[in-house]
Amino acid sequence: MTYSDSTRCVHSGLPAPQIGAPVAPGPVLASAYHLDPEGYVTGRDGYGRPDNPTRRILESAIGELEGGDCLVYASGQAAITALLLTTLHPGDTVVLPSDGYYQVRVFAAATLADLGIDVIEAPTAGPYPSFEGVRLVLLESPANPGLDVADIRAISAVAHEAGALVAVDNTTATPLHQRPLELGADLVVASGTKALSGHSDLLLGYVATRDKSLLEGMQRWRNLTGGIPAAFDCWLARRSLSTLALRLRQQAANGAAVVATLRKHPAVSAVRWAEIAPGIVSFELDSAAAAAAFLGASKLVAAATSFGGVHSSADRRHQWEDNVPSGFVRLSCGIEDTSDLVADIETALDASMG
Ligand SMILES: *Cc1c(COP(=O)(O)O)cnc(C)c1O
Repeated sequence: MTYSDSTRCVHSGLPAPQIGAPVAPGPVLASAYHLDPEGYVTGRDGYGRPDNPTRRILESAIGELEGGDCLVYASGQAAITALLLTTLHPGDTVVLPSDGYYQVRVFAAATLADLGIDVIEAPTAGPYPSFEGVRLVLLESPANPGLDVADIRAISAVAHEAGALVAVDNTTATPLHQRPLELGADLVVASGTKALSGHSDLLLGYVATRDKSLLEGMQRWRNLTGGIPAAFDCWLARRSLSTLALRLRQQAANGAAVVATLRKHPAVSAVRWAEIAPGIVSFELDSAAAAAAFLGASKLVAAATSFGGVHSSADRRHQWEDNVPSGFVRLSCGIEDTSDLVADIETALDASMG
């Protein structure tokens, strides 16, 4: 029996029913576990950094949704840097998105270059360079914040032909809208801080893969560098996952209505929206001052970075990265009622025109 999205979100990862046990187990907060006095027994929980049952529940839930084995990390950035540092070695070449999450490029310039790793940047929508001699191609689709989309299936086929690994940052789409492992990618990496957990109250990252040796390498790396998420945050994330499909549905409805409003408003240009990340809309206002006026006038849209939460929010991306125009806004639709959100955004857009 294959279940649909909301059913999978509710049930994934939960332990088999046991009479007297909780339907939804609470967080196991533990750094130390009782050991067998005779010595450590493999496969039993021994110490909190490698072992935590609440974390394993979250990992099997996300793994089920992505269609692979999952490891969670303290943040998306912890997961991405773990992926880069375990798969790349001095002399290797990596292809990174030129329009993806900017801190990955900052990390590449600061750390990968020092390690003797060559970094090539390519725009998500292409054109891509030859993958001959490339060890890893990292895609981000839809890319944050421009929302361009990559053809994961086609790019994976070409990269594999050249002997390169393919990893996809699936943060904006979530595994309900896109499953990169099914499209041929070797690894998925993502920030669970955004829509996956969706309540703006925790940081989380994950990788998922069907390749046991990549998984083992990443698990070893996580244990030795220590970038694990706290058990309580894992519990919150698993709890939030139950409503992922419901939340995305309302965010998509709001996204569609907001896009229609933006497209006909005279203050707005360059509206960007991707079908597989339907709660996120990027657009341009005339200036940084207009973006500030828009955010100041809205009562429902919080000025905040991050996205995918139940509360609508918007970010002036130019304050963090200079490869977008000064009036560029990335708007994340929450789960408010559509008519309330649209009315609020219309009023704020009018105010942005001064
Ligand atoms: C936010 C984000 C990250 C980084 O995740 P954190 O949880 O903030 O460390 C990586 N990739 C994308 C696409 C993101 O939006």
